[in-house]
Amino acid sequence: MPSLLAVMNPSAHDFDARRRWPRLEPILRRGRELTLLETEPDPARTHERLKAELARRYDRVVAIGGDGTVDAVLNAIVDARPDPLPELAVIPFGTANDVAKSLRLPLDDLERLAAIATGDRLGALDVPRVRALRRGRLVVEKVWVDSVGIGMDADVVFERARYRDLGGYLAYAAALADRSLQQRSFDLVLDLDGRKFETRVFNVFVNNVPVYAGSLEMPGARRDDGLLDVYLFDRLEYGSKFLSFLTKEVDVLGLGVHEFLEDITRNQRTLHGRRVRLILASGRRLQIDGDPVGEVDEVVCEIVGQVPVVLP
Ligand SMILES: [Mg+2]
Repeated sequence: MPSLLAVMNPSAHDFDARRRWPRLEPILRRGRELTLLETEPDPARTHERLKAELARRYDRVVAIGGDGTVDAVLNAIVDARPDPLPELAVIPFGTANDVAKSLRLPLDDLERLAAIATGDRLGALDVPRVRALRRGRLVVEKVWVDSVGIGMDADVVFERARYRDLGGYLAYAAALADRSLQQRSFDLVLDLDGRKFETRVFNVFVNNVPVYAGSLEMPGARRDDGLLDVYLFDRLEYGSKFLSFLTKEVDVLGLGVHEFLEDITRNQRTLHGRRVRLILASGRRLQIDGDPVGEVDEVVCEIVGQVPVVLP
């Protein structure tokens, strides 16, 4: 009987995940040996428990939560190194759900999501690693799945914690309003597969999947092409555009996306490469998959492998 490990963030979607579990469970369990592991607020503890569980060699792991839950599962898989690698499935219960949207999963149909998570269609998902330093000292080294950012993007992630009680996109918009008023540009050397560029930016992020911040489909990006996508933003206008977009998102889902996307893509420079190294003139805050990490002055991202991923 195939074995399936469901990894659920119980606090995902304003603690809705646990309430929705009874609708998912019978579909996930059908014909399979099902184990449920709930993540904990302490990421280190979650990592150790997941790693130990993965030593039991599951055929498939289903991440139930947001992009952070997929990140946690992927890090545990890479550290536990089961052979062969389990297949990865996603049931999105997060805020942005960039990975799920990049996989073209439906977002609200629970029964369909569970059926897809146990289905046979497989694709590939690139696995990138990030290594970040501050004054030559290692700050973080891990794999990631969605995005790594410095500048406005990362600062918003740090500020968002202050507006948590507003929930979801509204917290994002509030944090963004704060940051767009205070944001400053910074000097950056970008080393892309050995080609070096010097530039001054307001925001930089490296993406692995095409969907960014829950709604932006970034042009020229693929989840399985072995390439990372680098987006450089150099105009303050980005802040106010992003803010008005997110505010619209709170009120009327889906409206204004195309108009915004055109503006933002005109405002940015896009580059693609296997290995991306960012060298900053001074320390700036770093976010990895929506988690605040700390101040760094050097970031290296590269694709280190692929995992099989379940598609609709
Ligand atoms: Mg790619």
